[in-house]
Order: sequence, then C-alpha cells, then structure tokens
Amino acid sequence: MAIRTIITEPNKLLRQISQPVNGVGKEERKLMDDMLETMYDANGIGLAAIQVGVPKRIIVMDISKDENKKEPRYFVNPVIKNKDPEKATYEEGCLSVPNQFAEIDRPSKCEVEYLDYDGEKKLLKADGLLATCIQHEMDHLEGILFIDYLSKLKRSIIIKKLSKKKSTAAVL
Ligand code: ZN
Repeated sequence: MAIRTIITEPNKLLRQISQPVNGVGKEERKLMDDMLETMYDANGIGLAAIQVGVPKRIIVMDISKDENKKEPRYFVNPVIKNKDPEKATYEEGCLSVPNQFAEIDRPSKCEVEYLDYDGEKKLLKADGLLATCIQHEMDHLEGILFIDYLSKLKRSIIIKKLSKKKSTAAVL
C-alpha cells in the first residue's frame, strides 16, 4: 500500500466526471488499498478516487470512530437506487477542501447498489452519517463538491482562502 497525494480545491480534476470500471481486478484493489491508507493517514472518513487524481467510480469509506476496530467499506460503480424525501443536516468537510466546514442538507436515507472489494454486487440501505457520507462521495464522481451547495458568495470566499493558502505554500 502507498499513500497518495490528495488533490485540493481549486483544481480542475475535482470537476471531472469519473468513469465506471469494468470490474474489480488487481489494479482496482491496489487503488482501493492505497485510497484507504491515504484516507486513514489524512484522518478522513471517505475518499473518492478522483481525489487522488484517478477518474474512476471508486470510493472508500470508514465511518467507525474506533481506531482499533476499523470498518473499511469499498464502493465500486455505485448507483443510488432510492433517496428518502426527508432531509438530514450534517456539518460536512472534505479532504479536498481542507479546514472548511458547512452544514449541508441531504436526503436522510438512501439505497446504493455497487460492487464490493471482491467485485460482488451489493445493495446497501444507508441512513445517518453513512447516508450523508455516501452521497458526499458520490458527488465527487460527478465533479461536485459540498461547497457547491452553498451560496455563490460563501463558496467564493472559501475558494479564495484555499487559493491563498496554495500560493503561500508555493513560495517555499
Ligand atoms: Zn469530499
């Protein structure tokens, strides 16, 4: 396994639409292993492949808070089958939008069909944080970030802050 570099906003790659994979083979599993390690290293609970610069419809997640009891989840070619009309609000952040947080409304429950780590077809009924996290990560596959749900003004303030940080870093 290897830790990969997480791309941060603003970056055009994050706006790219990711493509489905043909199945789960060695290459996909290696990518998922790397993504999981990268996510744990960055203290995240979810990561989409595009966040490490790979435009494939692959997501890894672990919403268990317990360090000793890891519960990695893998979603390949995920498709949302059903969304609850009821909304839930969570304060969201994103490894690609560092140190920025905002309350976002999303459907409180969803059903997602996907291939797992072994390439087997699965259907998951998710609610709570899991439902929010799945929808946040699946947005990445469409080139959407959580800040896109904010007002134009709020979003531009955040992007400005992030761009500033980037340019300072480049001076070193
Ligand atoms: Zn994210």
